[in-house]
Order: sequence, then C-alpha cells, then structure tokens
Amino acid sequence: MLRVGINGYGTIGKRVADAVRAQPDMAVHGVGKRSADYVAIGAAEKGYDLYVTDQASVDDFREVGIEPAGTVDALVAESDVVIDATPAGVGADNRPLYERHETPAVFQGGEDATIAEVSFNARANYDEAEDAEYVRVVSCNTTGLSRFLAPLQEHYGVEKARVTLVRRGGDPNQTGRGPINDAVPDPVSIPSHHGPDVQTVFPALDIDTIGLKVPTTMMHVHAINVTLETEPADETQVRDLLQGEDRLLTIPEYSDIDGAGTLKDFALDAGRPRGDIWENCLWEESITLRGRDLYCMQAIHQESDVVPENIDALRALTGHLTASESRSITNETLGISFGRLRDRKDLTADRQTAD
Ligand code: NAD
Repeated sequence: MLRVGINGYGTIGKRVADAVRAQPDMAVHGVGKRSADYVAIGAAEKGYDLYVTDQASVDDFREVGIEPAGTVDALVAESDVVIDATPAGVGADNRPLYERHETPAVFQGGEDATIAEVSFNARANYDEAEDAEYVRVVSCNTTGLSRFLAPLQEHYGVEKARVTLVRRGGDPNQTGRGPINDAVPDPVSIPSHHGPDVQTVFPALDIDTIGLKVPTTMMHVHAINVTLETEPADETQVRDLLQGEDRLLTIPEYSDIDGAGTLKDFALDAGRPRGDIWENCLWEESITLRGRDLYCMQAIHQESDVVPENIDALRALTGHLTASESRSITNETLGISFGRLRDRKDLTADRQTAD
C-alpha cells in the first residue's frame, strides 16, 4: 500500500484524497490543513488524519474538536509520496520540504513547469514520469486539451491546433472572483498561457490559444480547430476514434445536454460525488470536418478532470503499474463510465430490433 500524504486540502486536494481512498493499492496517510474551517471539519468527519501547517494553529483545531495528528513536516516524513494541492505558487515554496525528507511529490498545474521533471498527462506521457521524483499534473484546461489531442496526434498527426478557451470566472466556493457581469479577454495578449502549457506535454505541437473569462463557476468550454496532417476518411471515423477514448465523454444529440448546466445536472442525477465530471465532455454534433480541418466544442469540469490524472501520476512516479493498468484501475474505482451514453442508445436500438 502506497501511503499518500495530501498537502493542501481545497478544491483539488479533497477530491484527490477521496480518489486515493478508493484505490486498492494506496491509502491516505493524512491531509495537510491550514485552518480549522468547515473543510477541516469535513475532512475529520471522513476520518482523515489532519496535519497542521503551523504548530501555532493546533489550539484552533482543538477548539472545534479536532486533534491534529501532527504537522505537515511529519506528514511529509511519514508518507511514501505527497500530493501537493496547495494554491498556485505555494507548491514551489514546499518543494524544499519534500527534498529534505526525500519524499517524491506530485504538484499541480498552478505551478510553473520548471517545478518538476515532467508535466504529466496520463493519456499522453505516462511513461515519462517513471524515473521522476517530481511530477506536475498539468492544469484542468491543459489536461482537457492533452486528452483530446493525443489520439488525433497518433492517428492523423496535428499540423496546427487553434483553441479559444471560454473560462469559468472562478470555482463555486471562490466568492471573491469574477467577473460577475462581463466577458473579459484574459489574457488579452495572444497566445494565452494555455498553448505553451500544452507544449510542456507535446513539445513539438504547433498550437495557439486565446482565452477569455465569463461569469460562470460551472465549467470551461473550448472551441477547437485542428488542422490534421492526414485527412480522415470522414467525420464518423473521427467520432469513432474520439469515442474510443475512456476519458472523453461524447455527448449525443438525443441526450439534450446543451451546456454546462445540463452536464452538471446529469452528473448529479448519476450520483457523481460533488457532481464531478472527470471526463472531457465533447459535443458529438460539433465534430465537423472540412478537408483536414477538424472543428468541435468540449466542456471541461475544472474542479475534477485532473483528479484521475493525479492518481495515475502517483503510480507512474512509483513505477509499479503500466499506463493502461493504472488508467483502467483508476477508471474502474472512480466509476468513469458514463461515457456510455452512446452505448445506452445502441442498446435501446438493439432491443427494438430484437422486439
Ligand atoms: P484551493 O485554494 O481550493 O485549495 C488549496 C488549499 O491549500 C486550501 O485548503 C488552503 O487553505 C491550503 N493551503 C494554503 N496554503 C497552504 C500551505 N502553505 N500548506 C498547506 N496547505 C495550504 O486551491 P485549488 O483550486 O485546489 O488549487 C490547487 C492547485 O491545483 C493549484 O496549483 C491550482 O492551480 C491547481 N488546479 C486548480 C483547479 C481548479 O479549478 N480549482 C483545476 C486544476 C488545477
């Protein structure tokens, strides 16, 4: 059993902790927490051992009935590997702590790529993390783009990718973020940082990205145009290729899922924890081919798409399973399977034919 310490128990950290707990080959050793707030109480109620960032805050935790198991320093020393899910930039400050204890670590996409030997996506470059001590799971948007581009790159080659990212203003719990009534080019300069970030996974890829922020907390939406090197036979061939990807949910027309709101509703109806959608959500009708130019639109659930990638990064780093073994265990244990919307329709059609 791999003992995993989760340092930073916020939007990403709490989801990764629950995902680690669901794995047969790893366990949550404890979670690093800074303040004795509602999230700390939730962690304690789930049975996670809490390690405080600052010894001085121990009394604050005791006042709300939580006895800390130790400090983050102890958490790092006792863990086989750490997931650093602290806010962007704090991971870099934490790296010396991991080095001191010789504990390998998985950082998040808010950190600069130079923090780790590998910028990681389980679909695109799992094997590159095998001998690494530090890995960075790329951001939610870069994860979504890497998953989408990897099969296209393998089957047709990508001459040029152009992506407009319509980004959520903040997460649902980020009450101070905006815009609250605007659509803001962000950044106004081109390319946005997303293109170069995708190149940390695909160094030779030609990609330009444009970003803007809008007043929603639900999901990001990508409008994509990829010029392929080889022309596909037809749209169906491309659709079949993308449908074969385990972490790409293709949304069929019949489902009436018309945006991030219905996607979240669908996820909640399906009993997904926190309404999470770990897969890219790709509208099937948007897949359009004009010669070698492919167009489509996908939604990305920013709070959760990196969660399975973190689990796979843990296995890649510790080198005990291959990419396909790890991905299939992660998919199975988390329940990444409602990409089967299409199968459901096919099954219905089969039943009707049989009748
Ligand atoms: P968050 O603010 O929700 O959570 C961070 C947690 O770390 C909080 O609980 C905070 O109290 C705690 N913390 C702060 N300083 C700490 C310290 N010194 N030591 C330990 N804990 C500390 O942040 P998040 O959204 O979960 O983001 C974490 C990382 O994941 C960032 O790099 C971010 O860019 C990346 N990421 C975020 C999203 C997203 O949409 N939220 C998506 C993908 C990647």
